[in-house]
Amino acid sequence: MGGLLELKKVLFALNELFGHLCSYFRIKTWPMQKTFSFKLLPSEASNDTILKKYIAQAAAVKPTSVSGYNFQKRSIDARQKQPWINLSLLAFINEPWQKRVLSPVQYNDVHHAASKVIIIGAGPAGLFAALRLIEAGIKPIVLERGKDVRARRRDLAYLIKRASLIRKAIIVLAREGRAHTATVNYIPAVLKEAT
Ligand SMILES: Cc1cc2nc3c(=O)[nH]c(=O)nc-3n(C[C@H](O)[C@H](O)[C@H](O)COP(=O)(O)OP(=O)(O)OC[C@H]3O[C@@H](n4cnc5c(N)ncnc54)[C@H](O)[C@@H]3O)c2cc1C
Repeated sequence: MGGLLELKKVLFALNELFGHLCSYFRIKTWPMQKTFSFKLLPSEASNDTILKKYIAQAAAVKPTSVSGYNFQKRSIDARQKQPWINLSLLAFINEPWQKRVLSPVQYNDVHHAASKVIIIGAGPAGLFAALRLIEAGIKPIVLERGKDVRARRRDLAYLIKRASLIRKAIIVLAREGRAHTATVNYIPAVLKEAT
């Protein structure tokens, strides 16, 4: 496994060297469309110049050889303090960029469709499955259990506590003829206290 990784590194370095030699001797490298994947900082992922620089590095060509790219996948990994953007893109190198043409999806009315499919869970997978079924003219029925009973009780207790604090604050201030103060000054403070 370690040997394979080393070999990959050597091949990558050779490829990069080849690209540099080509650009140094002004040898025109052949046109290509290639998919690249990157894990970038949010500020990098939204910067066209930086993206072209990374593509050029990965393809061992000059940034000017990269005419453009089309995103194939973009996702945010916000599991840690520092969020990352995972990108997969199709780059156009030494050839003109072609805009990706997306055909609009036709969502038909499936209220009375003959076929139905029950989907358990309204996470990304469940919702995407529902969309695909609608495209196919099938009626999806999505069942979502929500939180378990214990967690729901905690949520309710929190809401009740918060609502009663707000109600008390408004009643006190309204009695004093300061309802405006309640909405502008007091409620944010009560909310802060309750959270
Ligand atoms: C703490 C945490 C942080 C994450 N952060 C990121 C991130 O930053 N970026 C990222 O891309 N991914 C992140 N992920 C991963 C991402 O959440 C999952 O990849 C994604 O949610 C998987 O989608 P899914 O539809 O398969 O499942 P889920 O999102 O888990 O959806 C399943 C759904 O089914 C419901 N369900 C389960 N059993 C039943 C049942 N018996 N009846 C009815 N409903 C049911 C559940 O309530 C849930 O809503 C994170 C995951 C966790 C746990």
